[in-house]
Formats: sequence, C-alpha cells, structure tokens
Amino acid sequence: MIELPEAITISRQISETLTGKTVTDVFQATNPSKFTFFSGNLDAYKSLLVGKKICSSKGMGIFVDIYFDKDICLSISDGVKLKYGNNTSFIPPKYQLLLTFDDETFLSFTVTMYGGIFAFQGQLDNIYHTKSFESISPLSSQFTQNYFIQRLQKEKDNLSLKAFLATEQRFPGIGNGVLQDILFRAALNPRQKLASLINVEKEQLYKSIKFVLSDMLAKGGRDTETDLFGKNGGYQTILSKNTYKQPCPVCKGELKKESYMGGAIYYCPNCQPVK
Ligand SMILES: [Zn+2]
Repeated sequence: MIELPEAITISRQISETLTGKTVTDVFQATNPSKFTFFSGNLDAYKSLLVGKKICSSKGMGIFVDIYFDKDICLSISDGVKLKYGNNTSFIPPKYQLLLTFDDETFLSFTVTMYGGIFAFQGQLDNIYHTKSFESISPLSSQFTQNYFIQRLQKEKDNLSLKAFLATEQRFPGIGNGVLQDILFRAALNPRQKLASLINVEKEQLYKSIKFVLSDMLAKGGRDTETDLFGKNGGYQTILSKNTYKQPCPVCKGELKKESYMGGAIYYCPNCQPVK
C-alpha cells in the first residue's frame, strides 16, 4: 500500500523519468476487478490521455498524481502498484490499466486488493484526494509539535493510538504500515488510549513520526513496498510481515502479530506495553 514515503518516492521517480514522454495508447484491464475504481467512463481514458505529454508528478498522503499537458491528470490511490519499463515483455500479465509512450516504454497499474486510478481534466471530486492534498503533511515544517499536540487534545480520550494516527484521514499518508515503526520507536502500543499518554510520551510520538517518515523517505520507501521500477524500498522495516518472526531488535523478546481494527498490528509486549 502506498503511504506517505512511497507516494513521494514514486512521484519523484515519475518526475525524473517520465517527464516529456507522450502517451501513445491506453489499454484497459486484462483482469477486471470490481475493487478497482475509475473516474467517469473508462472508455474516455483513451481520448483523455492519448497524445498528452507528462509534465510532472506529485505525491501527497495516499495519492500520486501524474500531471499531463492540457490540464489532464491521472491520480493513483494506495493499493495500486505502478511499474515502469522499457521492455514490453516485462508488462505484468494482470494489469488494470496500461499506458504506452512514444519511446516504446510503458507504465502499468496493478491492484492486489483495491485501489483507484482516476483520469480527469481539471479537478477530481474525491474526498480522500482532497484531504490528502489539502492537509498539512507530517513531513512539512508546518507540522510542528504544537500543531500535533493540539490535534491530539481535540480527540476523544478513549481513542486508541492506531485509530488516532491511521484512521479518518487525520494524517493522510500515515497508514497501518508506517504506523508500526512509528509506535515502536516511541515505545507505545497501538492499543494504548490517548487519555493514558503523559506529556513526554506525546512528544516522543511526535518526534518518532518526524524521524521515521523522514528516514523512510530518505531510503526510498519501505522494503515491504515497491517503487516505480518494481524495486523494494531501502528502508528496512522494524515491525512488518517481513520481521515479526524475528526477535525484538531492542530486548530480544518475542514480537507479536495480532489483528486489530481491520489490519495486522505488530509490537513488542516488552518494549511497548499497554498502559
Ligand atoms: Zn522489545
């Protein structure tokens, strides 16, 4: 799933690699899925995109937007995997959309569970997209400790840390993936309630959000995700499906994987006890 470090990494790669390329053709799904969402009529994607040139790209929250000339945009939400290549034999067999370019390269979009691929002219009418692009990014200088603690104090006391950080788009781009290492580094449990946090823990949490997201971005995203070229990110996750069978890197105790609020959580019961 694309979260903030991947959204920014992939958009940078698109800007660097795809700028100036013109779309020559658009191919619809080889394996249509009802959990892939499009904007308007999919048949119109061809006339919207063919002949248009890529100008730039921007990643925010859980979206990557690709900007073309003539005010055309293709916006990708979390859950969509992009893959760029220069040899058509590497096109994934089960794609939801495929673009080809004037230099015989391609960009494919595949979806494992659900995802959105929206082509449009002008503005996209999608609340998640608006929130992703209008909210203050946790990586921006406007995301200060004061701002974060004020956000925290507005919430209900019985909200858990996972619910606070990763639901309702309070912090677009912080999802159930990056959340795990943020909480580990802050020594806080995903189930812990906001009311139980003391001031020093709130500060630790803020610092951990800044540190972990910056580190993930600097390393080109997480090792559980792939970039534009199908390569895993260089950030080694501490807590993820890749690591939970290994001992805790701090106390060497056993890590836990549990299902909580519609997704797996990973934690060390020793280093992150529920208070
Ligand atoms: Zn531990």
